[in-house]
Amino acid sequence: MSARFWEDTPLEALDAEQWEALCDGCGRCCLLKIEDEDSGRLFYTDVVCEYLDSDRCRCTRYLDRCLLVPDCIKVTPEVARTQRWLPNTCAYRLVAEGKPLPDWHPLVSGDPASVHRADISVRDKVISESYVHPDELPEHLAHWLDEKP
Ligand code: SF4
Ligand code: SF4
Repeated sequence: MSARFWEDTPLEALDAEQWEALCDGCGRCCLLKIEDEDSGRLFYTDVVCEYLDSDRCRCTRYLDRCLLVPDCIKVTPEVARTQRWLPNTCAYRLVAEGKPLPDWHPLVSGDPASVHRADISVRDKVISESYVHPDELPEHLAHWLDEKP
């Protein structure tokens, strides 16, 4: 893998190893979201998919994820370019928008734990959907996310 490959390689041209390495391991895309019916605006909650390991912030069923969870959308270059529900810290979205990766991204820092130290990941901030009734989701807005999906 060439150094800083994400700076000069289009998303479509990344190989499988580079594509996976681009994921920062934040887990934010696995937060459940709710939509305001009037405005259409999406809000993140602090409730995560039951298949997320909330300590490692990694999917426990990565290969089966789209079968197990119909709402789990596989990130592709097209998704990265067009889907505003991806967090604005998401590395795929940043690269798609021609923006640099932040210092805390593991590819830049060289340390997978930097995403946790920078307080970007969902570690220690979330609860599994297994413990939350869907009607209670509005009580779980993720106010710690200082961004709008
Ligand atoms: S938000 Fe993007 S970078 Fe973070 S875990 Fe999801 S796909 Fe990976
Ligand atoms: S199935 Fe895995 S990748 Fe998909 S939302 Fe759940 S934890 Fe995230």
